[in-house]
This record gives sequence, C-alpha cells and structure tokens, in this order.
Amino acid sequence: MDKTVLIVEDESSIRKFVKINLERSGFKVFEAETGEEGLAIARKENIHIAILDIMLPGIDGFQVCKILRHEFPKMGIIMLTAKSQDIDKIMGLEYGTDDYMTKPFNPTELVLRVKSLARRIDSSKEMEKSNLLICKPFKIDTYSRKFYKNDEEIELTPTEYAIAKLFLEQPGRAFKRDEILNMVWGYDFIGDSKIVDVNIRRLRAKIEEDPSNPVYIETVWGIGYRWKEKN
Ligand code: CA
Repeated sequence: MDKTVLIVEDESSIRKFVKINLERSGFKVFEAETGEEGLAIARKENIHIAILDIMLPGIDGFQVCKILRHEFPKMGIIMLTAKSQDIDKIMGLEYGTDDYMTKPFNPTELVLRVKSLARRIDSSKEMEKSNLLICKPFKIDTYSRKFYKNDEEIELTPTEYAIAKLFLEQPGRAFKRDEILNMVWGYDFIGDSKIVDVNIRRLRAKIEEDPSNPVYIETVWGIGYRWKEKN
C-alpha cells in the first residue's frame, strides 16, 4: 500500500511544492491549509506521515502535533520550522516529533526524510511471519509492530519503536549515538544526535518504572546507550 502523507501548511506555494515532490516519489498526498482542516483529514483518512508547519492560522503546528500524537500514537510526524529557537521545543518530550526541517529547506532532503520515516513505519512488513523479540519483561512483535511490557501494549511512535527494536535485537550491546542516528534515521540523515537523546528520554518515560533512574536503557558514558543485558 502506498504511504499517505498529510501536509499542513498555509502557504500554498510551499504546500504545492512539497506535494509535487512527494507524489513524484510515490506518496499519496493530502493537503490542508489550517490545523483544523488537517485534523479533520487525519480523522477521516489513514495517514501515515504528517508534515506540520508551526505557524498556521488558528491552532498552530504544536497544537496539531499534540492532538495527532494523542489520537494517533503511531503516526510519523515531521515539523517545519522557520526559527532555530523552535527546535528545542520541537524536540521536547511534549510533542514527540520524529523529525524536523528548518525553512527554507531543500525539497529533496524533505523527501529523503519522509522516505526514511516511511521505512521506520514499514520495517515490520519485511517479515512474513510473526517474529517475537523477547527481553523480559518486554516483548516486540515485529509483524504487528507492537511493543509490550508484562504483556500490556505500550504505544510507541515510529521512531521510539525503531530504537526499541534495535535494542531488543542486541541486548547488552552499547550503541553510539551516531550509530543509532544512522540505523534509525538512515545513513543519509544529516542531523543532530540530540534527536537521539530526546527519543531515548521519551522511550524511558514510557517504559521505565522510574525514568530518572533508568534500569532498562542504560547510559554508556561518553558513548551512547545500551539495553540491559538479559539475565
Ligand atoms: Ca505557515
């Protein structure tokens, strides 16, 4: 099935530009001029990835992001920002975006990031049969793309899921931040490894009993992170 992308941006020239570039790469694109309109489309259509501009008439991109994350935890979200100050906010725990781009951006790079995110969403489809990764008390079903703790599902964003899967495939292995960045976001991603730290923090907040004293995802000082070795 073709991946669907929703672009929420009030500037029609940017919207059209993004749409043309994504359609050329095989994505089905829905357009919205306002956040309200974007939410209505997301509730009606099966959207895999949302691209949200921050400055919008009516509710802004941050609000749209928050609502989408709440209603569709597994949707991929990329934020468009004009200001570098927004980045810390975007990367914060509250919004849970998978990626961001600063305007003005190169459409080719946006397409690469959308493709990389689509791969994260799609990674499970590579397997034909259900495959379980077990690392008690956690379990990942790579076919349904579900993550469980004590047999209860915890909803993860596409990026959190990709990181958790990487860890559960090799518990005990220390991953460098850059390695995680490359393996999860893709080799063509030129970004800030801070996005790795933010996602690890979010993952800890969802899976650890006490996220400030993490037991499962260990920090490897000066290197990166490691999933607790199996007992
Ligand atoms: Ca705008």
